[in-house]
Amino acid sequence: MKKDIHLYNSLTNSKEIFKPLVPGNVGIYVCGPTVYSSSHMGHARSAIVFDVIVRFLRQIGFKVNYVKNFTDIDDKIIEKANELNQKSEDIANKYKQEYIEDMKNLGCISPDHEPCVSQNINGIIDLIKEIIDKDFAYEINGDVYFQIDKFKEYGKLSNQSTDSMIENNRIEFNPNKKNPLDFALWKKVKNNEPSWESPWGNGRPGWHIECSVMSCKHLGKNFDIHGGGRDLIFPHHENEIAQSECINSGNFANYWIHNGLININKEKMSKSLGNMINIKDALTRWHPILIRIFFLSHHYRTPVDLSEEKLIEIEKSLKKAKNKIMLSKPKSIDLTDFNNLWMEAMHDDFNTAKAIGIFFKYINDGKINPSNIDQVKIFEQVMGITNWTSIFEHDSETSNIDSSFINNLISKRNEARKNKNWELADELRNEAEQKGFILIDEKEQTLWKTKDR
Ligand SMILES: [Zn+2]
Repeated sequence: MKKDIHLYNSLTNSKEIFKPLVPGNVGIYVCGPTVYSSSHMGHARSAIVFDVIVRFLRQIGFKVNYVKNFTDIDDKIIEKANELNQKSEDIANKYKQEYIEDMKNLGCISPDHEPCVSQNINGIIDLIKEIIDKDFAYEINGDVYFQIDKFKEYGKLSNQSTDSMIENNRIEFNPNKKNPLDFALWKKVKNNEPSWESPWGNGRPGWHIECSVMSCKHLGKNFDIHGGGRDLIFPHHENEIAQSECINSGNFANYWIHNGLININKEKMSKSLGNMINIKDALTRWHPILIRIFFLSHHYRTPVDLSEEKLIEIEKSLKKAKNKIMLSKPKSIDLTDFNNLWMEAMHDDFNTAKAIGIFFKYINDGKINPSNIDQVKIFEQVMGITNWTSIFEHDSETSNIDSSFINNLISKRNEARKNKNWELADELRNEAEQKGFILIDEKEQTLWKTKDR
């Protein structure tokens, strides 16, 4: 029988046993970036967290439909376009492509669907019409607002009263709104803005409505998991729930997963503090595997403090781990225990921090060596860190060894293995060993180390 996954549901503030709507299938929607500037390390964390959750669910046999959107129509995009005297479409496309590239470079798998607002305007207009028909929204001077007083459960995700929402969130006074918390589903066109025709005149969608439309399009009216950063709980996710549940029965999403935010050197990362780190810049300093291990060595719900020192620390411990493996005598130690333990950690609210900890412990205890390293492959694949040992391939410790002999031998042996000439392959391995080299077969390549290291 399959093991249960226990996951922390932000909607109920408790750990629950995960039960998908359709057994064996998971629909997951994650709020993606608003594409008006380069993506930063906060985006990287969220992307890596959900990347690993999806990889894990697939590894244990679920068929996952993974959806992540692009907000390509937004005040900030329009502002930037006006500032630079460019089309907002061009700004959005530029940063969308950049984000896709960043994700690839971070080793994140592509979502199955990456819908954009600009391609879903008709669906958005249809949903707004439906909400107005059911009397949960009103039109005034070309704007359409959701009337939160009509939706009795408003506040159930962020767990707060409407009074404290107003108090804590600097809600601007707007004479057109019936309640200051009412939010725009449709905004009347202003100068220099992209706009679309609608029953309420020319305009464009508000922010929140897109996620209700695009999740429904790809996953249905009710789906399993909705994810995003903690900062999206209010108002964005609260509003998504209101828009979707006022017209459909049942939960919009059954489980809400929110990742913690990041600080830079113990300060909140924000544009105003000028301490934003772009993914692009981070990748010029740090190997993507280091960035992944850094984030994954924290539980996804906890805040993370990012600093140069911490990344250096991770690099040091990884290097030590590689050397420890290479120095360990090849022994056929069975790693079933290891695989059970990290899997168990992942079943318990995707505890990557624990899983990574177990990995390092097994290495430090000398239980992982060149001959059984194959048995940690699934762990490496789920964490997205395959070939992590290759980060240190060009270390100074190995650079003074004449490697032409061993590289020639490896390519001869690869040829032999391709031809299934196992006898020759073994002979070449022995020859290497006699010369002081140990060969390590990995998925894509064969690595080597000297016997004395
Ligand atoms: Zn969203």
